[in-house]
Amino acid sequence: MTNPLLQSFNTKYQSAPFAEIKEEHYLPAFKELIDQSLQEIQEITQNPETPTFENTIEALAYSGEQLDVVSNIFFNLNSAETNDEIQQIAQEVSPLLTEFASKISQNEQLFSRIKKVYDEKDHYTLNEEQKMLLEETYKGFVRNGALLNDEKKEQLKNINIELSKKSLQFGHNVLAATNQYYKHLTNKEDLAGIPEAILAQYEEEAKERNLEGYVITLQFPSLLPVLTYAENRELRKELAIANGKKSFDGGEFDNQNLIKELVKLRQEKAQLLGYKSFADYVLEERMAKSPQKVLEFLNELLTKAKPFAQKDVEELSVLAKADGITEMQSYDHAYYAEKLRKQKFDFNDEELKPYFQLDKVQEAVFGLAGKLFGLEFVETSDIQKYHADVKTYEIFERCETRDTRYEIENVESVETQNPELGKQFKALLYADYHPRKGKRAGAWMTSFKNQYIKNGENHRPHISVVCNFTKPTAETPSLLTFNEVTTLFHEFGHALHGVLANTQYPNLSGTSVKWDFVELPSQFLENYCYEPEFLKTFAKHYQTGEVLPDEKIQKIEDSKNFMEGYQTLRQLSFGILDMSYHAENVKVEDVKTFETETIKATQVYSTLAETAVSTSFSHIFQGGYSAGYYSYKWAEVLDADAFQYFKENGVFDPLISKKFKTLLESGGTKDPMELYKNFRGSEPKIESLLKRAFG
Ligand SMILES: [Zn+2]
Repeated sequence: MTNPLLQSFNTKYQSAPFAEIKEEHYLPAFKELIDQSLQEIQEITQNPETPTFENTIEALAYSGEQLDVVSNIFFNLNSAETNDEIQQIAQEVSPLLTEFASKISQNEQLFSRIKKVYDEKDHYTLNEEQKMLLEETYKGFVRNGALLNDEKKEQLKNINIELSKKSLQFGHNVLAATNQYYKHLTNKEDLAGIPEAILAQYEEEAKERNLEGYVITLQFPSLLPVLTYAENRELRKELAIANGKKSFDGGEFDNQNLIKELVKLRQEKAQLLGYKSFADYVLEERMAKSPQKVLEFLNELLTKAKPFAQKDVEELSVLAKADGITEMQSYDHAYYAEKLRKQKFDFNDEELKPYFQLDKVQEAVFGLAGKLFGLEFVETSDIQKYHADVKTYEIFERCETRDTRYEIENVESVETQNPELGKQFKALLYADYHPRKGKRAGAWMTSFKNQYIKNGENHRPHISVVCNFTKPTAETPSLLTFNEVTTLFHEFGHALHGVLANTQYPNLSGTSVKWDFVELPSQFLENYCYEPEFLKTFAKHYQTGEVLPDEKIQKIEDSKNFMEGYQTLRQLSFGILDMSYHAENVKVEDVKTFETETIKATQVYSTLAETAVSTSFSHIFQGGYSAGYYSYKWAEVLDADAFQYFKENGVFDPLISKKFKTLLESGGTKDPMELYKNFRGSEPKIESLLKRAFG
């Protein structure tokens, strides 16, 4: 019996043959392809010729081609169209892939060849992309301990095991502490101010526990309405404290010791690998590059945003005073912010939805990609799909409109275009917009096939955008909230990064860029949702055709920056705390003291003695954001500054679009700061973000 995953795909553009793939094909395909890939590695290590860039670095970069394709198909489906069987296979496949990855990273023969090429790199004439590939390949091994002696390798291995155990434990504790608590109330008056729909949820929650009345938990959708709407200040306080005490109460789920251990282990790991601090280790592989740069950035933003945060709090204090509150506390913030928001610009998602018909919004994004980058989207029915709801598009690049200004800069790419066709195939797009059983929540961009150039052939990518927007009915088309509109633009920004990719090696292509750079294209595209003229081209009432009125557009703009000063300081407090835990010579004697000292300058309300942020800061102690939390604000500065450049010259300016296209095409082949400077003419400026946020 033939396994379609082990053949070359006999479909248009060699797209995934979903119709032929059955669940039972995956596991044997993975096993076979892992063996084949290891065979390819062995051919590299046993090559009798001296190691060269081509026979080692490049050969490694191109190895495992079909394994990548099958992995993409399998894991994309596990997110978008899964079932028990696929999940079961994932459980079996994941350890195989981990083992495969470590067989490569621990392969000493392979590393010694890579090292030889790296040490002799001055003897080769390599282009910029090849230099980057060599550098990244070598560093990837070194950062995994390839240069250490056996004893230290063993030490590193043990540290990594401990780290993964302890971060897992950290997450379990937060979850258990969250689930352990609940607040039971029987008197409806105590819940005054909270919307009826939420009260119904609280009643449900009570019923599930065989209780009368209402139950509030520390799950976000349950907790947030109390902080936002409850007139009962004592209740707000009680819940805020319960939440801040999570894993900080000295009980069985306390995380204070784990924090100290994690911080110490990370420091040891960094030092073992020759770095001053864990932050130095992490940031070496980021656009920001050094802890100094990140701290300068965070502190500059803090100085400039703090007056706006204080103004936000003063504005709320006036409302609080009317209720007899002389000193606002952190647990009053959301409540008065909601009151003020209502006073200033009350409008809700439902009012806007009729103006945002999914088809029209998608048309607008396609049009935008056409205007900026000369792309054309053509729906096609000759591509196999993994679900009937998915739509497929061929994306072409138009070649005919060329401003003479570009030709000088871009002679090479003009020559490679086919003048007869007038357009060339760029990518395949799968658009999968509606929720169903088997699709996880949220929205994301992914790819079924990477872009790369091999033996002179440019393999174009197969990109997918997956969302969870309301399904159309017989009477009503799919209508989006404004938030969903920005989500679609966001994911399309990532998609364009993939679509336009034009690099030689698959692992430097498209969105394979430094972690604090990857959100630039996505957040950049979101900016267009706030451009009134552009918005009016597609925001039309689905029944009447009425264009979204100016006053509603104004409300969208105003609410975007509402309480932005306060929010900025909150983000900065997390960013600074994260950097401090991973700084050189860090020593945490007492978690609460450490935290209070570190984030003092970012606080606009007094701290509550019973609570801590760190003990449930899962982003950095469980997830992958350690020494990386700053990247949220960093990416915002990037996208605000990039868009500011457009605004100064016109948001569709062809010359600037062309420069931005070059940045997108380059993927990870160049240092991101260099790429950015080539586009913008200077480093990103914090002022652009301040201007957008505070006017
Ligand atoms: Zn994103």
